Amino acid sequence: MSGVRIRPAIAALPPYRPGKPAPLGPGGVSWKLSSNENPYPPLPGVLTEAHAALERMNRYPDMANVDLTAALAEDLRVAPDQLALGTGSVSVIGHLVGAVCEPGDEVIFAWRSFEAYPITVLSHGAVPVQVPLGPGAVHDLDRMREAITDRTRVIMICTPNNPTGPTVPQAELEAFIADVPDHVLIMIDEAYVEFVTDPKAARGLELAERYPNVVVLRTFSKAYGLAGLRVGFCVGTPEVAAAARALTPAFSVSLPAQVAAAASLAAKAELLERVTAIVAERETLGAGLRDAGFEVPDSQGNFVWLPAGERTAEWGETFTAAGIMVRSYLAGDAFDGIRITVGEPEANRLAVEVARTLPR
Ligand SMILES: *Cc1c(COP(=O)(O)O)cnc(C)c1O
Repeated sequence: MSGVRIRPAIAALPPYRPGKPAPLGPGGVSWKLSSNENPYPPLPGVLTEAHAALERMNRYPDMANVDLTAALAEDLRVAPDQLALGTGSVSVIGHLVGAVCEPGDEVIFAWRSFEAYPITVLSHGAVPVQVPLGPGAVHDLDRMREAITDRTRVIMICTPNNPTGPTVPQAELEAFIADVPDHVLIMIDEAYVEFVTDPKAARGLELAERYPNVVVLRTFSKAYGLAGLRVGFCVGTPEVAAAARALTPAFSVSLPAQVAAAASLAAKAELLERVTAIVAERETLGAGLRDAGFEVPDSQGNFVWLPAGERTAEWGETFTAAGIMVRSYLAGDAFDGIRITVGEPEANRLAVEVARTLPR
């Protein structure tokens, strides 16, 4: 043992639990529906670009991500200086929290939501303020408003909410933002925005345009299918984006990741066809589960939520035994349940079949 003093907050951090691969099921196959990954492999053109970039891996990547930033700025109709990129939007969220929170400052977010939030907040010495979801597993914006104190520095809004699925409606979110003191940074995490079909859902970029304390988080991991390459970004005011960039370790996003992301943007139309197919599968999966008698909230992401309460562990094991790895959330609270990622059509069908056999 050395005498090195690790900050107590770090020693106490809850670990991030990644979705696991599934063991083989009875049919000799297994399906990983535990990490909200895209079931489609990268497009051949994207792979070609990434391979070519690998041949230059003796060199550092472009630290300013110039080409990808320009492509994103054009796609999103924002100025390049409004963007900050990082190794996944999880990293960018951390840089933003680090940019605005002093130790003891408070970060409000709904719960249950993305499990990286409490870890990120605690790692910066800030205090997570978790506001339970309301009926239907939606953000309870009234209670989130009441949770604001003098120490509040950030409010996270996850829409669609991972792992439960619903979006926050645009009108409600705008009314909420108008009530929040303008020194509080409102992070709208839109990791799943490409899968949203509800016209009433929040549109973060429009809100960021109107409110300078709003920043939007996006990622190439889900709809664009590049989870393994780690590219995410934020869109905010030039001041907020610059603060995130200032905290980003040098050369974070690798060259293969930069070029694959840019190539994926260029192939957006083709990739969005896949998203449309995943959305259709989501609706079929949700309808199948509701048909089987489960109360599945309206999901606008690439996953559905199966409230399972005390049966969570048991049901999770049943899925695993059938060759389907799902994500079980077990905290002994009202939001225990199972998240099922929309995967290959065969996997989704099997998930419904298994769900029908679950003991209730
Ligand atoms: C997956 C996810 C992210 C982004 O993940 P990265 O791979 O780090 O870009 C961000 N927020 C939520 C809610 C997610 O589910």
